[in-house]
Amino acid sequence: MMEDIIRLLPEAVANQIAAGEVVQRPASAVKELLENAVDAGGKNIQLVVKDAGRTLIQVIDDGKGMSFNDARLCFERHATSKIRSAEDLFSIHTKGFRGEALASIAAIAHVELKTKRAEDETGTVVLIEGGEVKEQSPTTTANGTSISVRNLFFNVPARRNFLKSDNTEFGCIEEEFIRVALIHPDIAFTLYHNGKLTYQLKEGNFKQRIIGIFGSHFNDRIFPIEQETNYIKITGFLGKPESAKKKRAEQYMFINHRFIKNSSLHFAIESAYEQVLPDGTHPLYFLSIELDPATVDVNVSPTKVDIKLQDDRVVYGFLFAAVKKAIGEFSLIPQLDFDYDTDLDLNNVPQTGPIKVPHVSLSPGYNPFNSFSNPRSTYQQPSHHSTSANPDWDSFLKGIKETEVSVAQPEEQKVMQFEDSAQDMLAEVTSYIVVQKRYLFVSLQDKMHVIDIVRANERIIYENYLQALKDQPVTVQQSLFPETVVLSGARAELLTEIRGDLLKLGYDIEPMGGGNFAVNGTPHDEEEGDVQTLVENLLDEYQSHLIAHRSERDKNLALSLAHQKKAVMKPLSNLQEVNHFLQQLFACLLPSITPSGKKIFEVMDVEKMF
Ligand code: ADP
Ligand code: MG
Repeated sequence: MMEDIIRLLPEAVANQIAAGEVVQRPASAVKELLENAVDAGGKNIQLVVKDAGRTLIQVIDDGKGMSFNDARLCFERHATSKIRSAEDLFSIHTKGFRGEALASIAAIAHVELKTKRAEDETGTVVLIEGGEVKEQSPTTTANGTSISVRNLFFNVPARRNFLKSDNTEFGCIEEEFIRVALIHPDIAFTLYHNGKLTYQLKEGNFKQRIIGIFGSHFNDRIFPIEQETNYIKITGFLGKPESAKKKRAEQYMFINHRFIKNSSLHFAIESAYEQVLPDGTHPLYFLSIELDPATVDVNVSPTKVDIKLQDDRVVYGFLFAAVKKAIGEFSLIPQLDFDYDTDLDLNNVPQTGPIKVPHVSLSPGYNPFNSFSNPRSTYQQPSHHSTSANPDWDSFLKGIKETEVSVAQPEEQKVMQFEDSAQDMLAEVTSYIVVQKRYLFVSLQDKMHVIDIVRANERIIYENYLQALKDQPVTVQQSLFPETVVLSGARAELLTEIRGDLLKLGYDIEPMGGGNFAVNGTPHDEEEGDVQTLVENLLDEYQSHLIAHRSERDKNLALSLAHQKKAVMKPLSNLQEVNHFLQQLFACLLPSITPSGKKIFEVMDVEKMF
């Protein structure tokens, strides 16, 4: 006789299996409990851990608490207060919604829940072991919820044995803690491990939270990004190119305040950095993306770290452009550098009240990628502050604003300042070496400089082009026999659009219809070259920057053309040419980096080499 062999699993076993998906290690329980505390509206959340979570995981919040009945119900599978119908799945604003975390944790641990709503006289305590409620009674407790999870995996030895060293497991806990804390800077968090206070994060803004977690040296490593349309909003901080790392960099991306991992969005960010970072290094980022929840499916995996986006190409494109633009703005805008009286102690600048007015000047060699510990790249004697520890720039700058020192008309000041300094700074060099046809070694101010000639040339022509577009058009050399350039539809359209600007840069190009253009003139100093290829490459590069530099047409055009022509340069063949080249470079507003953010020269500390 054939027997039926299918059997229903006892509920306890089913719960244990489900628990395996949600709770793989102590850190997963930590994540779920912290997210519940955030969802409950807690403003102060404490995490207490013993033995990397093996012995105890406790999360205490001051959120809305639970009623007597809810305190028991919350441990039932599929018990959630966060969605009521299938439709709600498409407008999730909370972290949880699957209603399985507490059931899963309770199935494999000893759990004590204490909770109280503000409106209730007394609170509730529930004890539950291996999914069985052992006790439920009224108790006195603070408003909010405290959940203690002891002896995790006590009834799943396989999983317990599978755990790694305490260091590894605590590392994972720390990471989950950071992921939740980072994106909720408006909530205060603390973490105790084995009785030791490991993190104490006060309420603040995103930047303060980053610094609170990773340390004050991050202050100098990041710059802001902010971009918004009615479809998507991106805010946060990006790492300066110099702070990129070879190995694992701090990279955090959040969609609708939920930490997510998404390789294509990650790739969008890394590609936006492409021209700016050395190969094999990775940028830091802390990005918060906000989208209509209806366009994000977070219900792809039990841990909700993977997500599906309805329009991932749109998000990809926008993210790429936003990051690129932020990098562009960060590296293209010359920054003010402050020179101040030597007896002004930055560490003791009063927060309010009068402040001694510092003398403000600009340093044309200021490199925004340098941290303040090395403020002016080369051409000034280092002043005492270069060795002082982390000046408090924020309050320093605030002090300046309060006394209303005018730092207006930076352009004008820049020029004046430069004319002064250009003369005394740039004594002519009397010898030079060029290595590999590209690297120029010269001694300036008694320091050995290595200059990348091609990159320097890119900076020089870029600034010339900007000037040309503004008010000093390049002289056109008319051709007797105009060359013809033939372009496809999109390129032809683009060329017609920027033709006027190209004329200012020395290219007189006239549309002849049918995608044909006559090149009637080229810049007077241009060597013979393949105009067809130049125009094609120029248009393609311009197009690819178009989204990123939308509002800065001039910069885009100057950047694209400079990029095409940086390598077209006569080799430096005598002292006079070298000096002329150096004069041109250091007449630039930003001589130390290329328009796309690459380093142009390095100062060698010869003494350090020995
Ligand atoms: P989910 O978060 O997916 O709803 P959980 O199993 O994590 O499922 O929690 C179940 C329910 O228990 C929640 O929907 C919420 O109503 C309640 N809950 C859990 N933790 C807390 C807390 N810290 N404060 C208040 N309510 C909580
Ligand atoms: Mg939850």
